[in-house]
Amino acid sequence: MSVQRGAPEIDAIVVGSGPNGLAAAVTLARAGLSVRVYERAAHVGGGAATAELTLPGFHHDVCSAVHPMALASEFFRRFGLADRIDLVVPEVSYGHPLPGGTAGLAYQSLARTVAELGRDGPAWRRLFAPLVEHAEQVADFTGNQLLRLPRHPATALRFGLRALEQGGPLWNWRFSGQAAPALLTGVSAHTIRALPSLATAGAGLTLATYAHTGGWPMPVGGSGAIVTAMVDDLVAHGGEIVTSTPVRRLSDLPPARVVLLDVTPRALLRMAGSDLPATYARRLSRFRYGNAVAKVDFALSAPVPWQAAGLPAAGTVHVGGTRAEIRRAENAVARGRHAENPYVLVSQPSGSDPSRAPAGKHVLWAYTHVPRGSTVDQTEAITRQIERFAPGFRDTILASAGRSAQDVQAHNPNYVGGDISAGEISIRQLLARPVLSADPWRTPLAGVYLCSSSTPPGPGVHGLAGWHAALSALRHDLGVSSAPDLSPTLPDER
Ligand SMILES: Cc1cc2nc3c(=O)[nH]c(=O)nc-3n(C[C@H](O)[C@H](O)[C@H](O)COP(=O)(O)OP(=O)(O)OC[C@H]3O[C@@H](n4cnc5c(N)ncnc54)[C@H](O)[C@@H]3O)c2cc1C
Repeated sequence: MSVQRGAPEIDAIVVGSGPNGLAAAVTLARAGLSVRVYERAAHVGGGAATAELTLPGFHHDVCSAVHPMALASEFFRRFGLADRIDLVVPEVSYGHPLPGGTAGLAYQSLARTVAELGRDGPAWRRLFAPLVEHAEQVADFTGNQLLRLPRHPATALRFGLRALEQGGPLWNWRFSGQAAPALLTGVSAHTIRALPSLATAGAGLTLATYAHTGGWPMPVGGSGAIVTAMVDDLVAHGGEIVTSTPVRRLSDLPPARVVLLDVTPRALLRMAGSDLPATYARRLSRFRYGNAVAKVDFALSAPVPWQAAGLPAAGTVHVGGTRAEIRRAENAVARGRHAENPYVLVSQPSGSDPSRAPAGKHVLWAYTHVPRGSTVDQTEAITRQIERFAPGFRDTILASAGRSAQDVQAHNPNYVGGDISAGEISIRQLLARPVLSADPWRTPLAGVYLCSSSTPPGPGVHGLAGWHAALSALRHDLGVSSAPDLSPTLPDER
């Protein structure tokens, strides 16, 4: 069944200009096709945008802030992102304050991390060294769909065994101190799931592996710089972007050979209506959305006065205390409650990028996990948790801008109920994202593809879902079997 009518005036339409929509658009334009992107918001970029949310001169990341996948993603490596924008890579990828004024620190250097973890250092090395040595293979395995046979089975096996250990009842056997298990829990909790689980462990191991390889970079000037690089490339290769244009139904679009949708399965159901085959529609309607995020951006008069040494050098700080405390907080959210002492993800970009705030001042990005659809502003809960490990923090706040989970959805409908992953992260939904298929980006509608983070490999600013979807469209509908060159070379330079 086809939803396009008449003779195509354009080769490819992309709906949504998030990192995946733009990755798809860039890939198609680089294959020599005419491409038009429709974006509902007034600005491009979806989950990668920077704006003055509090006071003039304070540049906050509206959604994503930290970009472990900017260097690890195959799409961004082919695109040469690191050659197109300036990235700062903090010496400490992530830090974790603990009760008593100490902290665990995950340096980009695995050796230094091991040296500072004391008696758990060797256990950390045994856990990560084999993954860090094969980080590209880990990225290949986790950056694709899990259904595919791994290209590097030995690395996949090492990764799988570690995920089984850290995702189940054995997760404490290897450690005896507080810092190492807390460090790993802080990074695993990014997935917004009950802890421990196979999915949380898999995400934690992947992100921690990147922390010890390329580090956790942040673009100078903010995440919007990534989008600017992609838009510049798209426009240089003939693509166009139409903003402030929400697409309500597929039949409203002008004729095109292919349509790629940077939207959720829920939106596809609405946009396609009865055009979708009933079986596929039923499978899409079973796709589950996860719990959510409530966010606060702070303008500060001074850096966060962390009690523990080392934390000012960290780009990201996981706040919430010990492994047991974070487990309690995350499991409360999984049961549909607001945690009393929540887990808080903090990014402090202005420590390494002074362009983000007026001289001597700072921006701070923080969010916590809440039940999906929550309308609660978490500014006070987040402030209290940071203050617990940084006494005097409250006195540095010049202004703040809080957003509830519902506000997060109002900002971008892909984040259903505030679920920033555009679909729960569970093993089931990593295998079937959004449906169990060898080519989950391709829908049964002729020429229509899903390319959002509701498809593999899931959430994050990596462009991989868009890239995989575009390659599928090129292969199936556009007669192009090889991946186009994405390197930063303008056509007239060839
Ligand atoms: C608060 C927050 C913090 C995050 N932190 C990080 C982080 O630090 N690092 C990281 O890697 N990831 C982070 N993420 C996740 C990351 O932003 C997303 O996984 C990523 O942006 C997904 O890209 P996407 O292109 O699939 O979708 P999105 O970025 O959500 O883009 C979808 C786009 O489609 C548009 N759209 C939707 N429906 C329509 C329609 N009907 N018509 C036209 N346009 C439409 C939307 O307006 C939007 O611009 C965060 C997300 C949030 C919300």
